[in-house]
Amino acid sequence: MGKRIYLASPHMSEEGHEIKYVKEAFDTNWIAPLGKNVDEFEKSIAQKVGCKAAVALSTGTSAIHLALKAVGVGEGDIVMCQSLTFSATANPIIYQNAKPVYIDSDYRTWNMDPDMLEEALKKYPNAKAVIVVHLYGFSADLDRIVQICKKYNVALIEDAAEALGTYYKGKHVGSFGEFGVFSFNGNKIITASSGGMLVSNDEEKIAKAKFWACQSRDAARHYQHSELGFNYRMSNIIAGIGRGQLKVLDERVSKKRYIFEFYKRELGMLEGVEFMPVNDWDEPNCWLSCMTLHGNVKPLDIMEALEEENIESRPIWKPMHMQPFYAECDFIGEDISKRIFESGICLPSDTKMTDEDLNRVIKTIKGLWKK
Ligand SMILES: *Cc1c(COP(=O)(O)O)cnc(C)c1O
Repeated sequence: MGKRIYLASPHMSEEGHEIKYVKEAFDTNWIAPLGKNVDEFEKSIAQKVGCKAAVALSTGTSAIHLALKAVGVGEGDIVMCQSLTFSATANPIIYQNAKPVYIDSDYRTWNMDPDMLEEALKKYPNAKAVIVVHLYGFSADLDRIVQICKKYNVALIEDAAEALGTYYKGKHVGSFGEFGVFSFNGNKIITASSGGMLVSNDEEKIAKAKFWACQSRDAARHYQHSELGFNYRMSNIIAGIGRGQLKVLDERVSKKRYIFEFYKRELGMLEGVEFMPVNDWDEPNCWLSCMTLHGNVKPLDIMEALEEENIESRPIWKPMHMQPFYAECDFIGEDISKRIFESGICLPSDTKMTDEDLNRVIKTIKGLWKK
């Protein structure tokens, strides 16, 4: 059997940037808390995304949580959330004792359908926030979603956890809403082993998020707290890995795009195959290469055939409105996200893959059409 091919595994720089920053932290004993790596990582991400401020946090999930808190989401509030996503997008709504309303996807983007969002806001005009996702590193229809959020006076949070390096009409995603969220967990386009980042143009709100993330410690000599606190900050070691990884982000994006184009060229003509659409506004980071199947070959056939060859693949995220935990929540839409889930598959998109590896994947998949 050939060597294991992964969906998306950590890929440290050949130059050793990450270890250099980690060593610097060791040498100065700035292991924790915070320190220069954290400050510099925040600055670099803010600059890359084009936002005024950023706060480095322990996870992307904690960044979504603090974004919701910062826009004033509290007990009983309605939050509109894209249904086709990973549960980390939605769970923080429950942490705030608020109520999710799930919104269907649009076939053109696989992301939140603006028409369904507008319908939902007509039904729930007092909604407090909207969470849109840039799934698999492909951008949502931001102009329309921003415009609708303005019209209904509701805060927009962009879950760009999968989309570092993705641009919408030349502007980095995550900079369109009140807040943008990024993740550096193990399988994201760059990883710090774990970690998250919250970005915004509202410097005061970022300062507030930083305060909450440090246990809401008041400026007093003794330990004093006037608000509920969280232990959500990123360590200086993890930020060192993140700083190093940021130096190779552009390389990783190029490779992810190369992989996506390779698959499209080699598999795009197979009967019933459709790749995730790239809209003309979008410069995606192509974090995962995904396709849907509309013929005789089903996603499970491909997943099983690949697994036999020691190749990892994955289903598309199961929509939140189909999750047992969220069964009681309202859902606005039809069955687009359900159909994408049922017909879709994520192909291995590991940046360490060679052309030979890609050809192994393609050969295995093409074999299913010859039967
Ligand atoms: C990974 C991910 C998150 C959460 O990030 P963590 O750092 O793992 O907490 C949130 N939303 C989406 C869409 C993700 O893929």
